[in-house]
Amino acid sequence: MDLILHLTHDCQLACTYCYGGHKRASAMSWDVARRAIDLLFDKPPTEPAAQIGFFGGEPLLELPLLGQCIAYAETRRAETGKPFRLAITTNGLAVNDALAGWLESKAVEPTLSFDGVQEAQDACRRFPAGESSFADTRRAMTAMQRHFPDLAVCAVVSPENVQDLPASIDFFVESGIRALFLNPNFFAQWDDEQLALWRRGYEHAARRFENEFRSGRAFHVNFITAKIVTHLKGGYDRSDCCDFGQKEIAVAPSGNIYPCQRMVGEDTAELGLMGDVSSGLNVSTCRELAYAREITGDDCLRCDLRRRCRNWCSCVNHRLTGRFDRTGALVCLHERMAIEIADSVASRLFEEKNKTFMETFYLEEQIASEWV
Ligand code: SF4
Ligand code: SF4
Repeated sequence: MDLILHLTHDCQLACTYCYGGHKRASAMSWDVARRAIDLLFDKPPTEPAAQIGFFGGEPLLELPLLGQCIAYAETRRAETGKPFRLAITTNGLAVNDALAGWLESKAVEPTLSFDGVQEAQDACRRFPAGESSFADTRRAMTAMQRHFPDLAVCAVVSPENVQDLPASIDFFVESGIRALFLNPNFFAQWDDEQLALWRRGYEHAARRFENEFRSGRAFHVNFITAKIVTHLKGGYDRSDCCDFGQKEIAVAPSGNIYPCQRMVGEDTAELGLMGDVSSGLNVSTCRELAYAREITGDDCLRCDLRRRCRNWCSCVNHRLTGRFDRTGALVCLHERMAIEIADSVASRLFEEKNKTFMETFYLEEQIASEWV
């Protein structure tokens, strides 16, 4: 089981698409954090090792608490022999070289939230008074790259910034980013023109992906890499999914437990509450959620793409359709587009027997197989 700790609801920014609820001073207490970490160590070890992720709000606003959590997890590892990995999602605004070095020394793998060129960043990720966060975030990216050469960046693709997506992809590639997560804003209203720009942006990502591999450099763009992997192994399996409370839990600053980080929000406990760190997980609620999320829509059950489709993201489904087990039209459109574009770029690199592509995606024994 992976554990996501929302260390605070607070944040320096006021992103338009934020699902973290309204910003307020609301640090998780040490007692809640300790009990949450104990929940993880009380479970049997998993393969791969469980991940403790720090999230928010902005988790680096609670640096002493973050340090305390890491020290406690290390103590519990020494007691139990149970390994873990550490990760943090940050807007980077508190990061300088010293802090990036400290994260490296503690083996905390960061993902930087950054939407791209100034126009893209300013469209949605401003400070509350409206100032731009671009320069500060770019400085943070450079500081983090000194300690994490493979730094991952997560960029939200939203109607307000989609016209800048090609320029933002170029900006990240030219800044040396090798792992780019394009995170669609499924909850916005998209018009036809914006949808066309979204496709143009994804096609641009595919061209940059292809050219990077042709230059001998592996470059990961989440929607391309994921769809190549699902082609090769015949679809997503349970270990690829958060499994809605089965494989991952998110703990709010209050101690309430949810099946997904997106569902913490305002922490109103109206939807998906699975228990709290004092009384533990409510077994019957966990069972109900696991049952409720099994996809039941006829269109999906009959669809040839269903094994490679992310229609299993229950929190997105619920927000779009009011049901965990039915996805929305925008997810369907996105998944078809992602699979089509990824398959097209992968089939060209496979035909060419591109060495970097083959070494990245194929085991020796798979090289003989055909891309179909
Ligand atoms: S940086 Fe993250 S937590 Fe802060 S406002 Fe933006 S999306 Fe929300
Ligand atoms: S969401 Fe669309 S692409 Fe995905 S399985 Fe359902 S019908 Fe197929």
